[in-house]
Amino acid sequence: MIGGVSVTLGSALARILVTGGAGYIGSHTRYFLEQAGHSAVVADNLSRGHKEMVPQGLLRVVDIRDTERLKQVLSDERVEAVIHFAAYIAVGESTQVPEVYFANNVSGSVSLFEAMLHCGITRLVFSSSAAAYGIPQRVPIPETEPFAPINPYGESKVMVEKILGWLDRYRAFRSVSLRYFNACGAEPQAGLGELHDPETHLIPLMLRAILTGKPITLFGDDYPTPDGTCIRDYIHVSDLASAHVLAVEHLLRDGQSDVFNVGTGSGHSVLKVLQAVERVTGNKVPHTIGPRREGDPPSLVADSQKLQKQLGWKPARADLDRIVGDAWSFANRQKRSSGEYAAIR
Ligand code: UDP
Repeated sequence: MIGGVSVTLGSALARILVTGGAGYIGSHTRYFLEQAGHSAVVADNLSRGHKEMVPQGLLRVVDIRDTERLKQVLSDERVEAVIHFAAYIAVGESTQVPEVYFANNVSGSVSLFEAMLHCGITRLVFSSSAAAYGIPQRVPIPETEPFAPINPYGESKVMVEKILGWLDRYRAFRSVSLRYFNACGAEPQAGLGELHDPETHLIPLMLRAILTGKPITLFGDDYPTPDGTCIRDYIHVSDLASAHVLAVEHLLRDGQSDVFNVGTGSGHSVLKVLQAVERVTGNKVPHTIGPRREGDPPSLVADSQKLQKQLGWKPARADLDRIVGDAWSFANRQKRSSGEYAAIR
């Protein structure tokens, strides 16, 4: 084990391009790739990412819609496989400007695939989402659950997964799509954590409420769940990152294209998360109860048996207090380095 990631014997070390590697999950994955002995280069247009999350010398500022520039980066850097994160992720925003989501998430992906095929690179790990399932019929959700996205963000992920299916069939282009549940936590000792702008996610917003004194609104307490608040599968970003390392190593061993859920298999309600935050930080979370948020299913929990069985993945940091503790360390680190927490809106 190196840094919590098992180095798979027999899997060659490779040069890997991480698109969106200045973002939250991308930066952690770049870190864990290096911990596993691989070499990484990052392509990011910095529209949502942070250059401080990428070590000196590894960042190539490029928009994935710029196919020609991508071709140049892929060949100059002698890339062997790509892990593709670069995408917009805000569900609410995707309902306001769907065309922007399809342009960046779908056209941007096609541009990347074209550049890769041009350079003869045919191994890709794709950042997909539980949003592809919409409101699922079965919970925990298996990968066989049909696509039923309920917003343009989720639809953009489905469209790319479908394109990857056709590329596998006709272009021998091998991919692994990882459908994430609720990514959270941080790798504070590596200086990595969640810095979305604007932030919409539950745990960083609860920590911000403590640090700023401004209450967070909890979206609804009348759901058909034991305490009335929504249940989600909170997965530590480092466990998510390690799934990407395993997925790319599977492809580097000439593994077949596949799709995996990445979650812990356990759900926590919003109120349970609030209790964990109060327990771990020793502070009350100022909060109010508001109406439901549009498009929030009552419960989303992953069945990730397939990833565990086929790629030997384990969520090693699934404990909610551990997740919150790492996010809290990072938030405090940010507060110290930026002088005031309000610097992160
Ligand atoms: N949530 C909340 N208040 C907030 C942000 C989120 O009550 O300010 C709830 C949200 O309704 C959902 C859960 O927290 O039930 C997780 O939401 P998040 O936006 O973190 O992730 P999502 O499930 O949308 O991917």
